[in-house]
Amino acid sequence: MKYLSTRGHADRKQFCEILLEGLAPDGGLYLPEHYPQVDDATLAKWRAIYRDQGYAALAFEVFSLYIDDIPAADLKVICDKTYTEAVFGTKEIVPLKELEDRFYLEALSNGPTLAFKDMAMQLLGNLFEYELARRGEELNILGATSGDTGSAAEYAMRGKKGVRVFMTSPYGRMSPFQQAQMFSLMDANIHNIAIEGVFDDCQDIVKAVSNDLDFKRKYKIGTVNSINWARLLAQVVYYFAGYFQATRTNAEKVSFTVPSGNFGNVCAGHVARSMGLPVETLVAATNENDVLDEFFRTGVYRVRGSADTHETSSPSMDISKASNFERFVFDLLGRDGDRVKALFGDALSKDGRFDLSADPAFKDAATHYGFASGKSIHANRLATIKDTFERFGVMIDTHTADGVKVAREHLRSGVPMIVLETALPIKFAETIVEALGCEPDRPAKFEGIEALPKRVQVMAADVEAVKRFIAQHCD
Ligand SMILES: *Cc1c(COP(=O)(O)O)cnc(C)c1O
Repeated sequence: MKYLSTRGHADRKQFCEILLEGLAPDGGLYLPEHYPQVDDATLAKWRAIYRDQGYAALAFEVFSLYIDDIPAADLKVICDKTYTEAVFGTKEIVPLKELEDRFYLEALSNGPTLAFKDMAMQLLGNLFEYELARRGEELNILGATSGDTGSAAEYAMRGKKGVRVFMTSPYGRMSPFQQAQMFSLMDANIHNIAIEGVFDDCQDIVKAVSNDLDFKRKYKIGTVNSINWARLLAQVVYYFAGYFQATRTNAEKVSFTVPSGNFGNVCAGHVARSMGLPVETLVAATNENDVLDEFFRTGVYRVRGSADTHETSSPSMDISKASNFERFVFDLLGRDGDRVKALFGDALSKDGRFDLSADPAFKDAATHYGFASGKSIHANRLATIKDTFERFGVMIDTHTADGVKVAREHLRSGVPMIVLETALPIKFAETIVEALGCEPDRPAKFEGIEALPKRVQVMAADVEAVKRFIAQHCD
């Protein structure tokens, strides 16, 4: 399998080449040249593999279609060591919970940091260690986080050979639980940098450091952001696993609702569906930051300015633009790289928006690709958390609540609905208390985490200071 850029660049690359890269050289995102098709016999075989051999074996089947520059035996070892009951808490790895008749939650957040990002990041940690060792190289991951991404990256990379993590976060602005999760890591290769500022300041620093090409080369700076194809690929697997649990035969269809921000999670659903997984509808659920809902309703994609980007109680979906959305638009426009370049490279940087409402392709988003969308705001979130707890005795987090709220607006009789549970409530305790008047359940392994010693460097929002810190810790 070769990979190409969504903006039409002529290069074709191997999986391991794009693994350690961010954007393509023309600013596009990487996608496989085609989506391998999973026929009925293969789907039946995978169903049996997941049932009899487990999630890691299913992951190996999916990855083998996309990765041909890692020997099969090595890839198998990587899958087996990534998706274990010890790390993810259950044998199924992503168990379904039926809330009511054929309305399910798929648990993606029982990994080390209690959010779905572990599903992909844990794989990335093992792939990075493998590939860096093979090349005899090192990598320093520099990132900015407002919570989930940074902790998932740190728990995936801790103790890994050849990798260091430098993670900036806005000082004092993450939830106490999230701060405790990140800052209590004592591994020598993990560095927390708390910036006196907001999340945007952190992101600006990461950009400024990455734009200093000499520094970037000298210190081998890389990222683990959500546009990485390997992260997306990892996420494809749990759409299959969810489908197999909710159905008995391949004649059945299911729908998924996905709490969405950067469009990474639901884009993996698009890939699974494009491979032939029998999916009826893929519902993107947004919070107050409704960039995606607006597009699927109107055909207009409009990036928000920072004044227009809301801080919400489902903070991991607080986005001003959806970084992975370009991948879907590439498929929607018949993989026309020149048009994607005109829209994402030119129109967005000039006007901050583009409009496909008059384009015949726009209606394909719903009719051919099965997309739908909806929006949920703070009051919906509170009501949904309360309702789910009172009627089913199940506590859900704020992001999952956005999903449940929107899923109910897209139910079709006879079609099971699977809502992806993207985090556990303990990560967003303040809103749970507001909705339920009681503290969320806490998994035993996180008892007393706030009281642990913390390893964090507090710093002014100063690019040079961050560079000095990185340089000092790279020797
Ligand atoms: C990252 C995240 C999301 C959004 O996922 P995208 O892939 O960016 O759409 C939703 N919920 C939680 C809890 C997250 O951490």
